[in-house]
Amino acid sequence: MLGGYCEPYEVLALRKDGSTFPAEIRGRAMPYQDRMVRVTALRDITDRRDAEQRLQRSNTLLHAVIDQAPFAITLGEGTKEDWSLTLANREAQRITGALVEQQRKIHFVHGGLVDREVRTWNMLHADGSAIEVQDTPLVRAMEEQRVTRNKEMIIRRADGLETVVLANASPIYGDDGSHIAAIFTYPDITEHKRTEETIRTLSQAMEQSPVSVVITGLDGVIEYTNRGFERSSGYTTEEMRGQHTRLLGSGHTAPELYQELWATIASGKSWQGEFQNRRKDGSLFWEYAHISPIFDSQGRIRHYLAVKEDITLRKVQEEKILHQAHYDSLTGLPNRFLALDRLSQIVRGAQREDHQAAVLFLDLDDFKKVNDTLGHEVGDQVIEEAARRVRWVIREEDTVGRLGGDEFIVLLSHLHEKRDAQRVAEKILAAFRTVFSLNDREILLTTSIGISIYPENGDTAKILLRNADTAMYYSKAVGGNAANFYTDAMNLDVSRRVELEEQMHTALENDEFYLLFQPIVNIYTQGIVGAEALLRWNNPKLGQVEPTEFIEIAERTGRIVQIGEFVLRQAVQQARRWRDRNEQGFRVAVNVSPMQFKEGDFLPMVEAILKEYALPGSFLEIEVTENVLLSEKINSVEILNGLRDMGIAISMDDFGTGYSSLSYLRHYHFDTLKIDRSFVRDITTDPDDRELVVATISMARSLGLKVIAEGVETAEQLAILQTEKCDFAQGYYFSKPISGLALERFFLR
Ligand code: C2E
Ligand code: MG
Ligand code: MG
Repeated sequence: MLGGYCEPYEVLALRKDGSTFPAEIRGRAMPYQDRMVRVTALRDITDRRDAEQRLQRSNTLLHAVIDQAPFAITLGEGTKEDWSLTLANREAQRITGALVEQQRKIHFVHGGLVDREVRTWNMLHADGSAIEVQDTPLVRAMEEQRVTRNKEMIIRRADGLETVVLANASPIYGDDGSHIAAIFTYPDITEHKRTEETIRTLSQAMEQSPVSVVITGLDGVIEYTNRGFERSSGYTTEEMRGQHTRLLGSGHTAPELYQELWATIASGKSWQGEFQNRRKDGSLFWEYAHISPIFDSQGRIRHYLAVKEDITLRKVQEEKILHQAHYDSLTGLPNRFLALDRLSQIVRGAQREDHQAAVLFLDLDDFKKVNDTLGHEVGDQVIEEAARRVRWVIREEDTVGRLGGDEFIVLLSHLHEKRDAQRVAEKILAAFRTVFSLNDREILLTTSIGISIYPENGDTAKILLRNADTAMYYSKAVGGNAANFYTDAMNLDVSRRVELEEQMHTALENDEFYLLFQPIVNIYTQGIVGAEALLRWNNPKLGQVEPTEFIEIAERTGRIVQIGEFVLRQAVQQARRWRDRNEQGFRVAVNVSPMQFKEGDFLPMVEAILKEYALPGSFLEIEVTENVLLSEKINSVEILNGLRDMGIAISMDDFGTGYSSLSYLRHYHFDTLKIDRSFVRDITTDPDDRELVVATISMARSLGLKVIAEGVETAEQLAILQTEKCDFAQGYYFSKPISGLALERFFLR
């Protein structure tokens, strides 16, 4: 044993008092005299032991701290030229997927990686591209003594899992200032990045979204608006931030809607609905909004989110469609649907406020003829013009609607007295007194009006309309160009009319029509000069029907054309027989409706019938009313001249009842004037009527016309007519209308 040493060793030494203490024993062999002796030194090492234990404890703690650290820590040790990883805490192992031992094997020499195959992880730039080994923060901290702070990187494990980290690396210097190591810490920010990414994606989505997005605080003050909002409102986020949403209000949205909105979202529920807002440029726009509260993690409402869609275009289209659905395209007036809706409102209002209202039902007279003869285009112009005229005469607050075809409705919402409705009706009738100038033509078109009054004639819209309609039909039945209030009696008339129309379909083929003849006599000689053919209808179901009742229906349904031809043939046939029985014979007068003139083949038809029975035209007389002349649709002059050319006489019937303009008589060549029996009737009692008869006679005389007085029933009437130098007379005083055979006997007598 050279030097005589023996290894020191530690023991637990026992004191005299029984306590122990750690001790180090060092033994040494020493020569003593002639032999070697062993010298043993015992040293109390309690202090050293304590220091050692403290160090170990702090080491353990340090390791635990490092290992438990919530972020990855890796340590590089060695010289700059040759170093290796010596430490990787648990988090570092997790992120890199490499155990400490594996990490230790990664050995760097001069910036190069020695043991590549054990390298289980890669460092990547934040964009995913590879970082050169020499450039990794750890290497730079080790070799270049450079510090890296918060560099975002990706660590990719062998199995492909990527962790986004915030890399920090710095060199560590020893007590003497020499560089001894580098520490690399890299907290995992993957989750954070993911959230950030999600937020970025969401906010981009919000910006790109075509809908507008508004985020407000609880007080309705705007914090965010997206580009979609800018597009629809014209306001940028900068302009809107800090403003209250009410800045957008248009004033057109009901306050209740906003109240409901705020109450809903403040209670934590979402609200959706439409409102009209105002753009920056002042224009209005419609928005469909879905507004919901945004909660924090504790479930408290922090914000409100409004996702809104600009629905202005849709609204405009909707309104257009609504308009189309409610207004008549030709006249722009409310259509049937809207007009009836208004009527219902008016009725409700009248009920509530206890006042009267009126419904005027209008139907143009003979409009069908306009359409048939002049075409629908002209027909449309007439409707437009008619609508204008009606609208012109009524007050702003009253409604005119078009029910369809040539039917209009006028609604008078506040009526003081019934007569007000009458006045409006008269104004409308007067408005039609001027001719309609259409395509170089002048048409005189009248209208028939029926009036029903709330509450007198009904308390619902439906009943009022029906009754006004009934009254209108009555106005038509009495000749049109008239206005009448509804009466309960009229209702019977309508069902009767329907019945008549129905029965008339087959009346001609079933031989239900026949003629009676009423003699026309010379007022002085009292000799018969002719007879008027008067149509009669004997229906198995309805019995004897008066012409005053059915002629108008035949005219309206157009059936009068066929019936008229039947009348003419029968009358001519009868005249032929009279002539056969008597050398002199006498003239037959036939009533003709304007409609018959319209057909165009009236003249040839008359000619053919005369020819068929070989009757000279001078034995025929055609009676027309003023309507024929009024109707611009008929070329009356041509027809009247054509008849005249055939030797046929023409008389104006019912003179005095219509407009009776004497100027007509100058323009058309009539042979006879028939004074209506309504004047003859009162000729003995009413001086006005007598005067009119006198004037008519003298005027007719000056024009070279003969005058027939209709409806002479008494000798007194006859006497006056004789005094006034009337030419002919016709009436019950002489004879009621009788059969052709009876008249023949009468005549022969
Ligand atoms: P109108 O052409 O004025 O015919 C005279 C009407 O007066 C006839 O009525 C006749 O019966 C009636 N009458 C004659 N004398 C008297 C009298 O003294 N007192 C009274 N109260 N009445 C008298 P009717 O036959 O009922 O015919 C009524 C109307 O029907 C006719 O009036 C005429 O406009 C029309 N009508 C009759 N037949 C035809 C026809 O074949 N074709 C056309 N288009 N209309 C006809
Ligand atoms: Mg007549
Ligand atoms: Mg007459």
